[in-house]
Amino acid sequence: MERIAVFPGSFDPITRGHESIILRAVPLFDKIIVAIGENGEKRSFFDIDQRLGWLNQLFGRESRIEIARYSGLTVDFARKNKASFILRGLRTSADFEFERGIGQMNKLIYPGIETVFLLCVPEYASVSSSIVRDIYRHGGDVAQFLPEGIKI
Ligand code: ADP
Repeated sequence: MERIAVFPGSFDPITRGHESIILRAVPLFDKIIVAIGENGEKRSFFDIDQRLGWLNQLFGRESRIEIARYSGLTVDFARKNKASFILRGLRTSADFEFERGIGQMNKLIYPGIETVFLLCVPEYASVSSSIVRDIYRHGGDVAQFLPEGIKI
């Protein structure tokens, strides 16, 4: 059976933290679907096509990485795509508490899914899309937080 993982997120914008998790997970799975979740309640800063474009620019040529978008429950998206794993990154204990709740609820509604966590590398522990957006909004230089070649 193919080991397929979904890496769900907003990627608003994609950061070096996200990129590092994806690249480090490549040897663990046969396929990783990097999927932008569109959630009616959460308005994004960068539009969906721009975010998909960055993901395609970075990973479009990787045979084991697919790019997708979805709405609705992540577990439903995973099931439809025959993914048995949800991949998430952990930076802090706050991330852990948040992810524990979601991961355990996902396990209850879809017992076939395993959530797999990779620890953030120390150099990106403080990098978050929300802080990058704040710096960008106020005219700061965010290049060092974005993957090589990505311009926002
Ligand atoms: P969401 O809106 O679902 O939290 P994000 O795009 O903010 O989506 O994050 C997607 C995933 O990437 C989450 O698992 C998050 O913990 C992880 N992540 C975000 N920033 C980093 C980082 N700097 N290092 C490692 N993982 C990260």
